[in-house]
Amino acid sequence: MAEILVLVDHVDGEVKKVTFELLTLARRHGDAAAVWVGPGYEGAKDKLAEYGAAKVYVAADEELTSYVVAPKAELLAQLVADRSPAAVLVAATGEGKEIAGRLAVKIDSGVLTDVVDVADGFVGEHSIFGGAIVSHAKVSKGTPIIAVRPNSTAPEAAPSSPAEEQVSVTLSDAAKAAKVVEKVVQEKGERPELTEAAIVVSGGRGVGGADNFKLIEELADSLGAAVGASRAATDAGWYPHTFQVGQTGKTVSPQLYIAVGISGAIQHRAGMQTSKTIVAINKDPEAPIFELVDYGIVGDLFQVAPQLTEEITKRK
Ligand SMILES: Cc1cc2nc3c(=O)[nH]c(=O)nc-3n(C[C@H](O)[C@H](O)[C@H](O)COP(=O)(O)OP(=O)(O)OC[C@H]3O[C@@H](n4cnc5c(N)ncnc54)[C@H](O)[C@@H]3O)c2cc1C
Repeated sequence: MAEILVLVDHVDGEVKKVTFELLTLARRHGDAAAVWVGPGYEGAKDKLAEYGAAKVYVAADEELTSYVVAPKAELLAQLVADRSPAAVLVAATGEGKEIAGRLAVKIDSGVLTDVVDVADGFVGEHSIFGGAIVSHAKVSKGTPIIAVRPNSTAPEAAPSSPAEEQVSVTLSDAAKAAKVVEKVVQEKGERPELTEAAIVVSGGRGVGGADNFKLIEELADSLGAAVGASRAATDAGWYPHTFQVGQTGKTVSPQLYIAVGISGAIQHRAGMQTSKTIVAINKDPEAPIFELVDYGIVGDLFQVAPQLTEEITKRK
């Protein structure tokens, strides 16, 4: 089977969940060949094997991560030229999309970004206008480069024993134009990261104020969940913007999404509608969110949320 290159998204050796999603997707269309860039591979290799990498190209040279983005595109361009993969998959993050664009220019190929699924023949599926329309697109020139949205594929383990191959690239001067001078690790709270959490509890305008968000946090903590918020809540300054779910916020796809005091505007749906099970608590039985849910609770969140927290806590 043809190789499909998967650029591993990791931070100092800690592999991001999206990489396992990309490996899962790649295995459906060929042999998944992970591309590791920078130090830290030894601590991460078991994870790549767990999710079915048939091969790992290891470019461990620290220089490759000392400059912003460009070296990764140069390395991938060299691998495409040497190995002729069937496609290249990257995460549709800010960095991933920039790498995809640079790579496309270097190898004279087409690129698809924000893809949510890949069908036979490397046809990319896009969910647009807040999920109201699904479109399909195909690269018509060169090796398809596909940037896939995090959380759009459920990662499936498929243990393998990947072959390893050390690779390197001689960087051009242009690739060294912007040097990383400092890295600051964001403080991690007790709660799981929003885009990687299995359960997300989000609060909206119905929560009514910053202080009331503790109801959302308590419910989330009883479930070991991440906290999210609608834009109405973040714009009001009740919760930080980094927790906004939706078209202009984060895209989440947890096993369970609980929307509390959120009406279900199309822009909010765009960031959570692929969640496996959706629950809403809303006092308005006509709220559009109820069109989307698996379970709906019509009621006042100030009564329902604390009761839910109490019941869940009792069962632990
Ligand atoms: C370009 C653009 C991008 C956008 N991007 C995003 C985005 O990324 N994410 C996002 O969320 N929005 C986004 N929006 C905004 C979006 O259109 C909505 O305005 C927003 O999602 C509404 O948030 P909400 O549901 O919390 O508030 P509302 O629509 O005001 O809904 C509040 C809900 O709370 C319920 N409620 C009130 N009190 C209680 C109570 N005591 N108990 C139970 N329920 C109660 C009400 O019945 C109501 O349904 C965007 C808009 C635009 C134009």
